[in-house]
Amino acid sequence: AQERYASIRQKPAISQCGKRISLYMNAGLLADLPSLENSGAEGVGLFRTELQFLVRNKMPSRTELVAVYKRVIEAAEAAGDKPVIFRTLDIGSDKVLPYMKPTDEPNPALGWRAIRVGLDRPGVMRMQLQALLRASEGRPLTLMFPFVAQWEEFRAARAEVDKAMAIERKLGHVVPEKISVGTMLETPSLAYASNKFFEEVEFVSIGGNDLKQFFFAADRENERVRRRYDTLNVSFLTFLEQIVQRCSATGTPLSFCGEDAGRPIEAICLAAIGLHRLSMRPASIGPVKSLIMRTDLDALYDVICDARERGEQSVRGAVMDFMRWQG
Ligand code: PEP
Ligand code: MG
Repeated sequence: AQERYASIRQKPAISQCGKRISLYMNAGLLADLPSLENSGAEGVGLFRTELQFLVRNKMPSRTELVAVYKRVIEAAEAAGDKPVIFRTLDIGSDKVLPYMKPTDEPNPALGWRAIRVGLDRPGVMRMQLQALLRASEGRPLTLMFPFVAQWEEFRAARAEVDKAMAIERKLGHVVPEKISVGTMLETPSLAYASNKFFEEVEFVSIGGNDLKQFFFAADRENERVRRRYDTLNVSFLTFLEQIVQRCSATGTPLSFCGEDAGRPIEAICLAAIGLHRLSMRPASIGPVKSLIMRTDLDALYDVICDARERGEQSVRGAVMDFMRWQG
């Protein structure tokens, strides 16, 4: 499939109206690294560190993690100094570690997961942060916290990074020359945090999979309801657009890294409402780029606004008509 898009692999994704959309890849395994070269990704927009914990039958050691992270950082460097955003451990709910005592929770998706676990039982997160710092060997490092629902969680997690830096320095390791720390936006609550929050975080990445499940109150794991609500539903697009506006008001870099970023029709709509950085599975980069290059995103935005004005529930029909007309 990558071959089909070989001719545009090195080209930037520029729309017919001249908008430059940055396309990054999601990753989590060493097997994903060759895609840094052959997918045309500008970098790794989401490195899901939990996969290294999920593929083992026991907790990985810090030494093992340092080795993995180093290989990721070196591969990205070799591919042309591409940036990598490491997301700290996102476990719980749909991601259960086989060697951890399962928690008996009535509703795991709304339960003890991700940063909540990281902050309540900081041992593993501290070990992981040290491994990330050590693997960077002084190079710039970008970190992102999963499932932050309120400002205080970001602050507490950010403080853990500073602590880990201090420990690493004390141990005589070089620490990154520059460290950038951002947050995932996966709960509606965070979209309404104060401006000060958006000024404090260095970047925001929308986790569309979780954000959508909470927005519509529809479990992403439940076959009965998971496809019930369209991502191109006017309510959801309007909500996403508000996030774009908030981040642009505070100058906070914003990206989108849920599965919808890798679906071409969804991707162009996200781009049209102002999400200009998308991170997706590597195989989606070619198809998404190809469609962006053929689309006038300004005209598409007008189509979206018109459908919203007309009272359509989803803009999908109007967008599909537009695409057929555009050819
Ligand atoms: C998301 O929720 O959209 C996301 C990117 O994270 P994950 O799918 O790993 O929960
Ligand atoms: Mg998520």
